[in-house]
Amino acid sequence: MPVFISYVTMFIAIIFLFSPMPAAAELAKTLPASVVAVKTFQLDHKDVVAVAVETRLPAAGVPDPLAYTFEPHYHITERNHILTLTVAAQSTLPADSNAATLINFSPRLTKLAINPDSKNDFILTAAYSSRNTTATVTTVKRKRVMQPDDTIIFRTYLVLTFSDILTSPPHKTIVLDPGHGGTALGATSNYLLEKELNLDISLLSRDIFRQHGYDVYMTRTDDSNPSLLDRADAANILQADVFLAIHNNSMPADMPDAARKLYRGTTALYNSAAPKPAKELATLLANELANTLHLHQYPLQDRPGLVVLNSSWVPAVIVEVAMMPYPQDAKMLSQRVYRQQAAQAIFQATEKYFSVSALTARRN
Ligand SMILES: [Zn+2]
Repeated sequence: MPVFISYVTMFIAIIFLFSPMPAAAELAKTLPASVVAVKTFQLDHKDVVAVAVETRLPAAGVPDPLAYTFEPHYHITERNHILTLTVAAQSTLPADSNAATLINFSPRLTKLAINPDSKNDFILTAAYSSRNTTATVTTVKRKRVMQPDDTIIFRTYLVLTFSDILTSPPHKTIVLDPGHGGTALGATSNYLLEKELNLDISLLSRDIFRQHGYDVYMTRTDDSNPSLLDRADAANILQADVFLAIHNNSMPADMPDAARKLYRGTTALYNSAAPKPAKELATLLANELANTLHLHQYPLQDRPGLVVLNSSWVPAVIVEVAMMPYPQDAKMLSQRVYRQQAAQAIFQATEKYFSVSALTARRN
């Protein structure tokens, strides 16, 4: 044992006094878990319920805290098309949490209830239609986050997915993430607010994707500002085929004119260190936007430090449609006909990406 043994490690060591020295992964299992949120997602072809279970590891003095993992204890039973999920966790949901308010009942998911009476377990039941629905259970981990007070929060989602009986090929899922929102305005220039442009282009894209049979989830449809982790979580929980964050760009006011000219127009950001890097998708998106809107294009950006790109387990790209401070770009962005063209370009590029991926998959 290291000499800097702390109360935390001593406490954990006492728990295991009569057992062999456990591995780091074992230790995290002994920490108390709580259900901190229940999220629902209703798409055209599936309903998804995700139960967020968290535990906190006081990491000060713990050697290699990032080596820890957390696996919530839970079990699922199924009877007469009623799934019951029991999690060994306290609930920190508001006392009046009413599952019925979480969903609009659909042809697939017909009943959802949280049992508030159970003291030690969290229990959720979901009834679904037997005729045309399949139910699956998966777990999705959020990136571990070290807090300013030296604790690490581990979050795992227990995900219940109720989908239409598989069509062939299955419907692809797109998560669209309009950047910023609420008090986070994003870039502001030429009387334009980035958060509004992002939302409008995303809504227009959503409609096009839906018209073509895609399942689309939007991380916001109003002037709210979900956290960056929540935005990435949506893509992970839904096992989206792509996660597209829609933004518009800005540059410093004191940038010299020559540089302003260089950085006008469109680009896309990706993360080469991601589990599923999406450079090809980023390339297609930037090309299609530049060609459709006759915009200047500047080099793609590899940005592993950005939260939405390093917390998404699915191919993720941030699109910067145009450069708001650049007068020609701003003029274009201010007109809906061009925002509609941008949405169309985003759709076309994504379709190209899927057809290229399908070709590559067939060859391998
Ligand atoms: Zn932005």
